[in-house]
Amino acid sequence: YAKSKGHNRIDIFDPMMLQQVRDRLHLEVELRQAIDQGDFALYYQPIINLRSQSPRGFEALVRWQKEDTLISPTVFIPVAEETGLIFELSRWVLRSACEQLQQWQKRYPKLRSLGFTVSINLSANQFSLPTLVAEIEQALEHHHLAGQFLKIEITESTLMHHLDSACEILTKLKAMGVRINIDDFGTGYSSLSYLRNLPLDGIKIDRSFISQMDRSQEDLELVRTILVLARNLHLDCIAEGIESTTQLQLLRSLRCPFGQGYLFAPPLTADKAEVYLQKHIL
Ligand code: C2E
Ligand code: MG
Ligand code: MG
Ligand code: MG
Repeated sequence: YAKSKGHNRIDIFDPMMLQQVRDRLHLEVELRQAIDQGDFALYYQPIINLRSQSPRGFEALVRWQKEDTLISPTVFIPVAEETGLIFELSRWVLRSACEQLQQWQKRYPKLRSLGFTVSINLSANQFSLPTLVAEIEQALEHHHLAGQFLKIEITESTLMHHLDSACEILTKLKAMGVRINIDDFGTGYSSLSYLRNLPLDGIKIDRSFISQMDRSQEDLELVRTILVLARNLHLDCIAEGIESTTQLQLLRSLRCPFGQGYLFAPPLTADKAEVYLQKHIL
């Protein structure tokens, strides 16, 4: 074994590593093909007003339809990011989400008066793309959508890695009416000054806090504190990953305004999301 021959060679001759590299390359090639063939689908998960129980928007979540299986974005988004394929994929996500919302607004005009939104997730790489704002603007225009119906989700770490450009980008998006939410709040960077320096609309409390809040006093206190922070800074707050009625009741008692999770609905195909709309708001 290479291990005995010295430190530097371990990586190269470790058969497990080699297999991982092969898998990775294979995944990369397949991902490239999938993008060319359009083997992706957007799923839509409802975001609920916890007081009225009515949906106020969908979060668009991408899936890779590989033959008979659906592959999770946690598997392929990192590969797409490392290979640069993320730009094309994100462009597709943006356009599909806008196209879908345009169709729904046409079919159900009430969605507009309700201010029903679709949120999309932005990847860190996109922040280094000089054309990002223009692409979003074009997608909105092309689908005759006002900016207020689109929301952008970015993680804290994305913000922190692009603090210089983030402010400018977010300010421009905000001017277009697009709203900005911090995703997975509480898991990233510890500096909070960005919350008052950037034009943000809301934060999404990470699922890890919500999933433990009915068992762990510490997590419950963290959620309570995040909610107070959000309220004092006039930020919207969405609790991610609500799975039980206990969690829902706790969140309600803490006056958390919005939530999302399997308790209400999992991410749905566009067809099922439309049925959901008909049933819950129309
Ligand atoms: P995220 O933006 O934090 O999305 C929430 C994730 O939590 C989704 O996983 C959703 O299916 C899952 N989830 C929602 N409710 C529950 C629940 O009650 N319990 C549990 N256990 N999970 C719940 P998903 O769809 O696998 O997406 C994972 C991550 O992949 C997303 O996390 C986001 O960071 C990324 N992602 C998804 N779609 C896109 C996209 O179009 N572009 C980019 N750049 N990233 C995306
Ligand atoms: Mg998200
Ligand atoms: Mg999240
Ligand atoms: Mg997450």
